[in-house]
Amino acid sequence: MSLSIEALLKRSIQSLALEGSDSPQVDAAVLLCHVLDKPRSYLLTWPEKVVSDEELSNFDTLLERRLAGEPIAYIVGYREFWSLPLKVSPTTLIPRPDTERLVEVALDLLTESSSRVLDLGTGTGAIALAIASELPKLKVMGVDYQDDAVELARRNAKDNHITNTEFRQGSWFTPISQEDQFDIIVSNPPYIDGNDPHLSQGDVRFEPQTALVAEQEGFADLLHIIDHSRQHLIDNGWLLMEHGFEQGNQLRDYFIEYGFINVKTEKDYAGNDRVTLGQWTVNTENKG
Ligand code: GLN
Repeated sequence: MSLSIEALLKRSIQSLALEGSDSPQVDAAVLLCHVLDKPRSYLLTWPEKVVSDEELSNFDTLLERRLAGEPIAYIVGYREFWSLPLKVSPTTLIPRPDTERLVEVALDLLTESSSRVLDLGTGTGAIALAIASELPKLKVMGVDYQDDAVELARRNAKDNHITNTEFRQGSWFTPISQEDQFDIIVSNPPYIDGNDPHLSQGDVRFEPQTALVAEQEGFADLLHIIDHSRQHLIDNGWLLMEHGFEQGNQLRDYFIEYGFINVKTEKDYAGNDRVTLGQWTVNTENKG
C-alpha cells in the first residue's frame, strides 16, 4: 500500500488520539521525522510525497510502541532540553521542561566569579550540561548512582561539545571528597511518594522508579541532600532543588530547620511550586 506523508500522518494521529495520547499531532510528526531522518519542515513542505514500504514498516513499528504507551523520548532515543539534544535511555528520567526552571533560577544566581556547581542525580546530565553550556568558565560536576546514566551524561557532554563538565558515579555526595566546595548545588532528586496514583499514568510508567520515588512521602532524598549539602557549600552558597507541586511549604520548613537563610520557592511554567532554594552562610550561629 502506498501512502503519502499527509495520509500517513492523518491515519496515525487518529489512532494515537483514540489510544488517549494528549499530543497525537506532535507524536506522529516526531516519529515520522525520525524514520525519514528529516526535520519537521519537510513534512509540511512535501505532504504529497509517498513514503516507501520500508519507511512505512519502520514507522508502524514505532507507532505500535507509542500506542502501547511508551514515551516518545525512549522510542526515538533523545529529548531536547535547554536547546541541547540529549540522548536518553530507560535507565534515566526523561528531561522535562519544568526542570528548565531550575536551570533558569541557578543561572540567575551564578556570577562571573562563580567557579563550581554540583548536580546530584544528574541522569542524562541535563541540568549540569545546560548550566555548563551557558557559562563555559564554570566547572560543573554531575553525580549519578547508575553507571549507565554516568556514561550517558558523558556521551551527551561529548556530543554537545561541552568540555566543562565532569561526571562521577556514586550515591549523592559519596564520590565528592570532603574538601570539595561548590557555589551552587542543584538537584532534581526522586520526590514522588510510592503510593502516588500518578505513577501508573503516562510516561512515568516507563521511567525508572529509582529516579522517581522516595521514602518518607517523597522527602527522604530531598532531606538527605539538604543535610549533607551544608558541608559542601561555600559561604553564601545556594542549594536549589526541584520538588513536587505540593511539597513547597514543608520543604521550606526543612531548609530553615537545617539553618539555611533566604529560603524561597519558585514556580514552574504552569504556576505550580517547583523549585525551592536556600542560602548557606557560615555565620556564628551555624558554626556554633
Ligand atoms: N516531575 C516528575 C513527574 O512528576 C518527576 C521528577 C522527579 O521525581 N524528580 O513526572
